[in-house]
Amino acid sequence: MALVVQKFGGSSVSDAASIKRVAKRIAEAKRAGNDVVAVVSAMGDTTDELIDLAQQVTPLPPQREMDILLTAGERISMSLLAMAINNLGVRAKSFTGQQAGLITDAVHGKARIVDVVPSRVRATLEKGSVAIVAGFQGVNPESNDVTTLGRGGSDTTAVALAAGLGADVCEIYTDVDGVFTADPRIVPTARKIDRISYEEMLEMAASGAKVLVLRCVEYARRYDVPIHVRSSFSGKPGTLVLDADSPAPAVPGLLGTYTDPHTNPSDPDQGESMEAPIISGVAHDRSEAKITVVDVPDVPGSAATLFEAVAAAGVDIDMIVQNVSAAATGLTDISFTLPAEQAATATRALEALQPDVRFGSLEIDDQIGKLSLVGAGMKSNPGVSARFFGALRDANINIEMITTSEIRISVVTRADSLDEAVRAVHTAFELDAEAEAVVYAGTGR
Ligand code: ADP
Ligand code: ASP
Ligand code: MG
Repeated sequence: MALVVQKFGGSSVSDAASIKRVAKRIAEAKRAGNDVVAVVSAMGDTTDELIDLAQQVTPLPPQREMDILLTAGERISMSLLAMAINNLGVRAKSFTGQQAGLITDAVHGKARIVDVVPSRVRATLEKGSVAIVAGFQGVNPESNDVTTLGRGGSDTTAVALAAGLGADVCEIYTDVDGVFTADPRIVPTARKIDRISYEEMLEMAASGAKVLVLRCVEYARRYDVPIHVRSSFSGKPGTLVLDADSPAPAVPGLLGTYTDPHTNPSDPDQGESMEAPIISGVAHDRSEAKITVVDVPDVPGSAATLFEAVAAAGVDIDMIVQNVSAAATGLTDISFTLPAEQAATATRALEALQPDVRFGSLEIDDQIGKLSLVGAGMKSNPGVSARFFGALRDANINIEMITTSEIRISVVTRADSLDEAVRAVHTAFELDAEAEAVVYAGTGR
């Protein structure tokens, strides 16, 4: 008997009919002989709507109350899903994150899981029932307060439970058929990736491919949990995320079970798929802003003072660029990118330093987009950057910042040219498929 964790995102449970459809799917997996744990997100855009509601009440809601509010979304979907499964004649019981033993640190709004103690989930499985767990939430043992794991955190709940329970596979059900070479909402000819390594998926997720949240991939790599990303609207096999040389997990009776081309001798493409592609895909991110500290004295310690203050304010920094200083003035500009919602906090921290560091001014720009090309094969392939920058030049797109890692090149562009930039790079690396990808549901919010 296999143990499967199945996670259903908001667009898969957006109304009563969808909840019944998902319930059927879970009941089938259970009837096929598997132990099933289902992790569920809030219905549709509930989380966004609750955030909007809080903003109408106060511009600065206390973080603790925000977490209590947002966890309500997942409580609604988990109980409805349990009811729908019971109605199909399969026993199911729902649990909040706290009841399921998701123990976190105390950071409201982006808590980290520190332990998973799923004794009630295990007991439920032993009794032959399906366990439904609310995604995105846990409890801090010191305060006994509920916490949330950050946007998209239900993916992390699912992988953490899969690791804690020793599941055979963690299936992430969403509104597209898997991980594609680009977001199919922007590039309709994006191609589905059959399998991708943790390393490449980490770079895709860190670069904005929100089909899997970054922390869930980090967790999966650390605990060696195979992930299968697939659509809840089709029976097609999706994308396997696992170590480059691990075999595909075998789970009996799952609809559209993945057959790994590496181990399937009848697959005519086997020869081809043994050779990993140079590029996995193109990711984009619209959620960042850019702050430029203008006319910073070019002396040792300026950057340290600025970034220490920003770090002390709890701001996450992404890209950093320092211009060459003008010899005549001894002044330079330092720009960095950060999550747009942290721009006000960072600005306040930097303004407080003005009398000490004596920089000229601060510029805040939230009309930027980030595009990243990811592929483990690029480190051994010269010419990747030349082709990348050539594609942006041919599309007449201006580049504002550049960073690289061993397996990624990222650039910042104007927000309104980002979609075009993604399509240009995707085509330049010959990633387009003949058929168009299907986006089954969701608002893309
Ligand atoms: P869920 O509600 O199921 O968690 P999300 O909206 O968080 O779904 O993630 C699925 C969405 O991720 C897709 O609808 C798609 O628009 C977006 N996406 C971004 N990049 C990719 C990619 N490379 N492959 C597939 N989907 C992607
Ligand atoms: N409902 C939460 C969100 O919208 C968590 C999740 O869906 O993963 O971010
Ligand atoms: Mg998601």
